[in-house]
Formats: sequence, structure tokens, C-alpha cells
Amino acid sequence: MGNYTGVFDYKIETPVCNILIDFEQGSAEYFFSMVDRDRFVSVIVGAIKDSGYNDINLKIAIRIRPNDIMGVRRDIGDQHRNRPNEEIRHLSKSYKQAYVKSKEFLSGEYIVYIEFTETLRRYYIDIYNDTIRNNDMANANIRTFIDAIEGHFKTIYPDRLYGILAHEITHLWHMKKSKALKYASRNKRRFSKISGGIDIEVGAFNNVLFSYGKENFIIGLNEVIGSFRSMYVLFRKRFIDFTMQLCTEGMATFMELYATGKEIDDDKIFRDALETARELKDKFRIFLTDFEGIIGLIRRAHGQTREVGNFMPLVKRSRDQYELHCREINKFFEALNLGSYSIGLLIPVTLYLHSDHSVEEIGKMKPTHLIDEYCKVSTIMGRQPVVSTSHFHRGAFDVRDCITEFNRLRKGLKI
Ligand SMILES: [Zn+2]
Repeated sequence: MGNYTGVFDYKIETPVCNILIDFEQGSAEYFFSMVDRDRFVSVIVGAIKDSGYNDINLKIAIRIRPNDIMGVRRDIGDQHRNRPNEEIRHLSKSYKQAYVKSKEFLSGEYIVYIEFTETLRRYYIDIYNDTIRNNDMANANIRTFIDAIEGHFKTIYPDRLYGILAHEITHLWHMKKSKALKYASRNKRRFSKISGGIDIEVGAFNNVLFSYGKENFIIGLNEVIGSFRSMYVLFRKRFIDFTMQLCTEGMATFMELYATGKEIDDDKIFRDALETARELKDKFRIFLTDFEGIIGLIRRAHGQTREVGNFMPLVKRSRDQYELHCREINKFFEALNLGSYSIGLLIPVTLYLHSDHSVEEIGKMKPTHLIDEYCKVSTIMGRQPVVSTSHFHRGAFDVRDCITEFNRLRKGLKI
């Protein structure tokens, strides 16, 4: 991530908070030439107003240097001169347009980090690559092309930024008010105690198992067999995270719409959430199959190591199958992670539009209470709840059911 100067010397006073911004030298003027200052302030004020806090001193660290932007232009120009028909590879796959650090805001520091330069860079490169892919670059003048990209970025970025700001600011106050982080860490601790297992990253399983060679393979198998319980614990904890994220990402995504004054299309949000929930339910079935598959595969391979004369085919076959199962399992957890946004959004939307709860009240609800309350209101409306986490309700995707079934499978497999 970027380095910030840590000097928050640009100050904007508003009726609900002071905003302190860390601008790198000379970039305030440039930034506000792209982003409307009044709208910027009004989104921040809107995002904080319903928090119930009146003493937030918000800090915003914006990674932006006019030189960086010249750098991006230069990179594209160089690339185009030297390898005009080749796409530019992104340096890293994942990046965030903005983020907050939970440690900081739990200790009372309210800082939103905005990766302006990196966002701009991605945007330039994506457009450049798209154009290459469509074969449109043949006779283009690169400078005119870059100017056009910059012009377009200026028209779309501010709007995107207002949503990002509202989202991240919501995390700052909401995680505290809803006690969502506390909920997750308390439940994980309690669960670890009951299950007696420990966390190990799934990646670690790969390393021990697939060092080639007879001795290592057997050692690896033994280690993985000894870690089945940890694997179960690791996966089981992801369901706790999902419940937390339904609450936190749901509220933050809701505030993206609410604080920026965007239209809230209740029906569409409901349909999207329902579709996501049904997909998750299907993917959960596949996840169970793959989990069972991994356990069976490792145990079988372990049984065969004593009989097999030619070892390498067994190692290779086991490795391929193992990796396949891991990939499928990761897909499920990625879907769970992503699903928390669209399903989560429906929760505050439903409470806001169809009950008497104010935004501030919704923001104070703890994860499981929030979800129960959502189920109640849905049922009164005559709509099936999309998600549920307690035995009082039955959602299209029922987290409790999943956990029960996963646990039943674990018992059946004697882990
Ligand atoms: Zn978020």
C-alpha cells in the first residue's frame, strides 16, 4: 500500500465534524479540480450524521501526487512506443480503492485511506488494454488517447469516490456501534474452545503434501491427516465471518446509496439478494462434497502408500485431485464473501423502508439481532427472508442449517 506523509494539515470544518486531509504537496488543488469540493463535504457529513456520533474528527489520507499522474501517462506512452500491440500487465492482482484499519478506529482514530493514484493507474491501464484487445490502437495518437482517458476518468471518478467515502466512513462508526468485530472474535474464540482445533491456512496443507519424493509424501499425508480438525475449524469460522460481514458490509453498502442520495430500488435489491442466496445454497452443497472428497482422498492415498510399487503416479494423482477440491472450496468461500454485500444490503434496506427503525437505530443493532429483525419484518411483509441465522426463521440461505450439516458431516467422517 501507499505511503502517506501523515501530516493532516488541510482542514475543512463542517457542522458535524472536522475533516483533516493528508494531501501530498500541491495535490489539494489538483484533487479538487477533479472532485467537487462541496459535494465531497456533503457526502461526508451525510455519512456521519446518522452515526449518532457528534465528535468524530475524521481524517482522510489521500495518496495522490501530481507527479504520480505524470508517471502513469509516461508508463503508457513508453509501453506504446516499445510494444504497441501488447497489453500492460498489472503489477498486482488485488488492490483496494479505499480502506480503513480496524485497529485504528477501535482505538478512536478515524482515518479513511484513499488510493487515488492506484485507482487512476488501474483505470488508465484497463482502458488501454481494452483498446489493444479491440485493435483500436493501430493509428491512434497516444497523447490524444491519454488525454481522452483522463477526461473520461474525471467524469466518472468523483461519483465513484462519493460512494467509496460513504462506505468506508460507515465502517468507522458502524463496526463500533454494532459490536460486529466483537461478535466475530467472541464467537470464534468460543468455537475454538469447544472444537479444540486450531487455525491453519489451507495453503499450508498444500506445501506439506506436495513436496515430491516418497518420504516427504508420507510425512505430508500424516500431517494433513493430523490437521483435519484444524481444517474443519478454519472453514467453520468462515461462517462466523459471513454473519459479521452481512452486518458490516450490508450497512456500509446501504450508506453508499443513502448518503449519496442514490435511488434505493427495493425490488431489485431483493431479487439480487435472493438469487445470490440460492446460488450460495447450491455452492454449499458442492462445498460439502469437496470437503468429504478431500478427506477420502487423503485417507485412501495414505492406505495405498504401503502397497504401491511405483510411487509417482499416486503422488501426482493425489496432488491433482487435492488441488481441484481446494479450488472448489475456495470458490465457495469467495462466493460467501462476495454474497455478504448483496445479501447484506437487503437487510438495512428492508428495515429502513418497511419498519419504523431509523438509520441510527439500524446502525446500532448487533449482527444476529439485526438479521432476526430483518427476518421478522420480511415475514410480516409476506416475503420469504433471504438469509437467516437463528432457528426462529427460515431464510433461502440458512446459515444455521449449513453449520449443522457441516458439523454432521464432520462427525460422520470421524474428524
Ligand atoms: Zn466494506
